Amino acid sequence: MSSRVGKVYFCAICGNEVEFVKDSGVSIICCGEEMRLKKEGFNGEE
Ligand SMILES: [Zn+2]
Repeated sequence: MSSRVGKVYFCAICGNEVEFVKDSGVSIICCGEEMRLKKEGFNGEE
């Protein structure tokens, strides 16, 4: 089972960021879109 625990996800629409403390395996949705994995070292700005 893959684990997202400890990984940070963000919403590209509203900017919410969440870190998993428990992964149930279900996608997380914010603003009607699937939240994206925030990669290490990526600060979200271009
Ligand atoms: Zn959102």
